[in-house]
Amino acid sequence: MEFRQETLRIGGERLARERVIEVMNPYTNECIGAVPKASVEDVRRAFEIARAYRPKLSRYERHRILLKAADIVVARAEEIADLITAESGLCKKDSRYEAGRVRDVLIFGAHAALNDDGQIFSCDITPHGRERRVYTQREPLLGVISAITPFNHPMNQVAHKVVPSVATNNRMVLKPSEKVPLSALLFADILYEAGLPPEMFQVVTGDPAEIADELLTNPAVELVTFTGGVAIGKHIAAKIGYRRTVLELGGNDPLIVLDDADLDKATDLAVAGSYKNSGQRCTAVKRMIVQESVADRFVELLVEKSRRWRYGDPMDETMDMGTVIDEAAAKLFEARVNEAVAQGAKLLYGNVRRGALYSPTVLDRVRPEMNVVREETFGPVSPVIRFKTLDEAIALVNGTAFGLSSGLCTNRLDAIARFVNELHVGSVNVWEVPGYRLELTPFGGIKDSGLGYKEGVLEAIKSFTNVKTYSLPWPAA
Ligand code: NAD
Repeated sequence: MEFRQETLRIGGERLARERVIEVMNPYTNECIGAVPKASVEDVRRAFEIARAYRPKLSRYERHRILLKAADIVVARAEEIADLITAESGLCKKDSRYEAGRVRDVLIFGAHAALNDDGQIFSCDITPHGRERRVYTQREPLLGVISAITPFNHPMNQVAHKVVPSVATNNRMVLKPSEKVPLSALLFADILYEAGLPPEMFQVVTGDPAEIADELLTNPAVELVTFTGGVAIGKHIAAKIGYRRTVLELGGNDPLIVLDDADLDKATDLAVAGSYKNSGQRCTAVKRMIVQESVADRFVELLVEKSRRWRYGDPMDETMDMGTVIDEAAAKLFEARVNEAVAQGAKLLYGNVRRGALYSPTVLDRVRPEMNVVREETFGPVSPVIRFKTLDEAIALVNGTAFGLSSGLCTNRLDAIARFVNELHVGSVNVWEVPGYRLELTPFGGIKDSGLGYKEGVLEAIKSFTNVKTYSLPWPAA
């Protein structure tokens, strides 16, 4: 992988800076590139440029830009996947999949841009009604959107922020994760190549300790959209004051397996949900909640399939899993698993670490109070918790601080209805992993996983716009 010396993307200029952040390949430990360490002044300049600019793109123009960007992503998918893999350690299978998801976000955004979803209300519908109609229209924000993204989907998280912003004629300043900034910069360049005015999307890279506060408190900011961990999400909520926030935070998603389930199918979902993206998805399966009478067989199949999950050099096309983001993260998983074992959990496979490479790991007889399942363990760990009754399973799922998504393996309609109604989560996927969704559909959590505002292209469009009503005299037809 060639070394990339990158620049800031501020107001159509590519600005180099003396101070840089090195970007490391988590597998080889090589420095693969460097991005500028923006100053607070750089961030202020980006917001000034954004605030002064009023996008005037027609719906058709926004549609064309997003479609063209989708074409570029398809044409350069291999290069995109290589870059994601190099800076994040995700294996090529995962990073190719991510490039496909980015394309989907662009396509859905392009189509959403065409859709004027205004509503019409006739006013002659009450005894004191009038011969009028009230209409709604969605308008871009007056201020600028400030976006902050995490490391785990280096390009797709960025796409989920900027595409709805472009579709609604907003202006956005983005700070990507300092661990994976190169994919964000490449995506910005793809959008510019597709014709996006650079004032509508600027990227500042840097040290959050220095510049994050400016992204939250700059007077031009009207809305902060943040995806990342709970601690920083809550810090942002406390810091920003009278501003809108969309917070998409951590998860601790269960895969619930009932005694009628086809265990082969359930364990296919378990391993995919737990190990894809090296277990680093907010909606990864982080707890397997399995009915006691089928748990032994479930665990046997889980171990067998975990052994078959090939992990190693992320660039090797045959691997199912690469590294986690860095050695510190891998050490944390190792420590959490060791702690659970010391408290009585049974390690059945894995917990092997080499640098940032951490094996698929199966733990049985896990109890809900153990940190490995009480906290978000953001890596390829499969902890199994056994339960007897549905009440117990529901209490287990609802018993953590998180409430993002869930997967459910059963064909019992009575049980499905109970889980859908009683789980304190944003999504319940029957016979699917918790992470299943379209890039278009509403997505997001409650409790510590988020404030309930959703993402997904259509929901983000709602968050990023103000609804205005206007009314006209209108005689009954
Ligand atoms: P993180 O919270 O450590 O960092 C996220 C971003 O916040 C980074 O860009 C970082 O630079 C920035 N940041 C750091 N300090 C800041 C500050 N003081 N103010 C503002 N921003 C600051 O998260 P991460 O480790 O990059 O990502 C993993 C986390 O993200 C997991 O908890 C995962 O569940 C969560 N996540 C949630 C979703 C979702 O949609 N709910 C999706 C993906 C990831």
